[in-house]
Amino acid sequence: MKKRARPVPSKRVSPQNAAPTKKRQGFQSSLGTPVQAALQQQVEAISLAAFNRPFTHQAVWNARLQTTGGRYHLKDHHLDFNPKMKEQEDFEAIIKHELCHYHLHLLGRGYKHADADFKALLKQVGGSRYAPDIGARRKVQRKYHYACSSGHTFDRARPVDTKRYRCGRCRGRLSLIKKDN
Ligand SMILES: [Zn+2]
Ligand SMILES: [Zn+2]
Repeated sequence: MKKRARPVPSKRVSPQNAAPTKKRQGFQSSLGTPVQAALQQQVEAISLAAFNRPFTHQAVWNARLQTTGGRYHLKDHHLDFNPKMKEQEDFEAIIKHELCHYHLHLLGRGYKHADADFKALLKQVGGSRYAPDIGARRKVQRKYHYACSSGHTFDRARPVDTKRYRCGRCRGRLSLIKKDN
């Protein structure tokens, strides 16, 4: 499959996120590293503080998440988080969102976005309302097709603010070349 270029903010470029990592990290390969341990600690702390329940599974940075901030896995109860979300102000709210799935599922209650239990708990703890997929990932329809001035192309499910975002490869200006119906 052809690799897609990704849009990145034109501002706030730090050396870490300036160059996207080419290497696909193995799913569990980063376990035990300091960044990984820090994430685990953060999720455990938020779980106790906001839910008054321990998080006893694994929280993992997963660079393969593209359109979502996090994901809860029903089978082994681990949580994935998107490394791109690390610097975001609402990252804690994303963690809370995933922990709502986690705790409700383990308690045998309504853990899906549409469930009353989920909505109530999310509101109570102040979790992010924007909804990463859980379990089997739905195929995201990428209706918006963009190209940069050097001809790198990428597709997005949602419109990109072409004034604020530039090409992730060459920093060229972006323009919408096509929108599917
Ligand atoms: Zn969710
Ligand atoms: Zn480009």
